[in-house]
Amino acid sequence: MSSIAYELARCHVCGGADTDEVADAEEVRAEVEALWEFHTRRVAGATPPEKLLDRAAFSEPPPVRVVRCRACGLVYRNPQERASALAGIYEADAGVGDDVLAALLETQRRSYRAQARRLTRIAGGVGTGLEVGSYVGAFLDAARRMGWRFEGVDVNEGASRFARSKGFAVTIGTIDDVPATRRFDAVAVWNCLDQLPDPRHVIMRARAMLSPKGVVAVRVPNGEAYARWREAAEHGAAAPLARAVLAHNNLLTFPYRFGFTLRSLRRLLRDAGLEVVHVEGDTLVPIADEHTKRWARVEERALKGALRLFRTLHLTPVTASPWLEVYARSGARGQA
Ligand SMILES: [Zn+2]
Repeated sequence: MSSIAYELARCHVCGGADTDEVADAEEVRAEVEALWEFHTRRVAGATPPEKLLDRAAFSEPPPVRVVRCRACGLVYRNPQERASALAGIYEADAGVGDDVLAALLETQRRSYRAQARRLTRIAGGVGTGLEVGSYVGAFLDAARRMGWRFEGVDVNEGASRFARSKGFAVTIGTIDDVPATRRFDAVAVWNCLDQLPDPRHVIMRARAMLSPKGVVAVRVPNGEAYARWREAAEHGAAAPLARAVLAHNNLLTFPYRFGFTLRSLRRLLRDAGLEVVHVEGDTLVPIADEHTKRWARVEERALKGALRLFRTLHLTPVTASPWLEVYARSGARGQA
């Protein structure tokens, strides 16, 4: 970890420098231990150690410290890893076999049906689309089955080649590698805006490539939910429950660069000339697998079911949902 370079960051959405601390270094370390313990208790004894490592390990090293912007609410790491340190992390895992990618495609495709359905409803029909961070092509597949003509762009070469082998057009690289003259009826950024070095640039670029009535769809871990649930996980009778909500939704240890909140995301989209037309509060897809103990699988299902039910009944605000999905359209205020 000593090879990672850090820099002090300002709010990426509003440029503000005034922050409140969400988790200091010691609290982050405690979360790392809690996450390890959480998963150790929930996997069967015969689980291969690398499987356990997968769960409790992070696509990014844990943060040094997490803060919240006073002006717009964005939750972010400060200090922050330099962007150059990020590139390698997501371009890596070239050694993953096709059988693993095929299994991922199958499970993710099923969960992406929900997003494909919502997008179709909000866009008022199907059309052309670009997915930023298309990975193995699971959403491309779900969208194609609904009649969309979606293509992808992803920095992960191995996953992109796999998606291409399934008949999808995928550009290997960033959104800047997709010709700026292209136009799409939808640009979707599922589960990766929070990891990108420059989300603002990606949203601006997405807006510029939208057809006149196009929709931008974004799914992110909710920074406000992280802050709220981790406060509840600190003490009191509900602490174990709050910790389980965080862990089951992959929020414990904040393995993200940015935790967008509804307020900060609205602002980012508005700056790009986009108006939010629909917000959906959600949970993470099930993470239990064949190594998960039975009680832990039941616990995860019950917990996520309850969170979704409370949300559907409007018993909890959308801001408490662990994951947020936001759909936006070109607004009148945007620049042509
Ligand atoms: Zn801010």
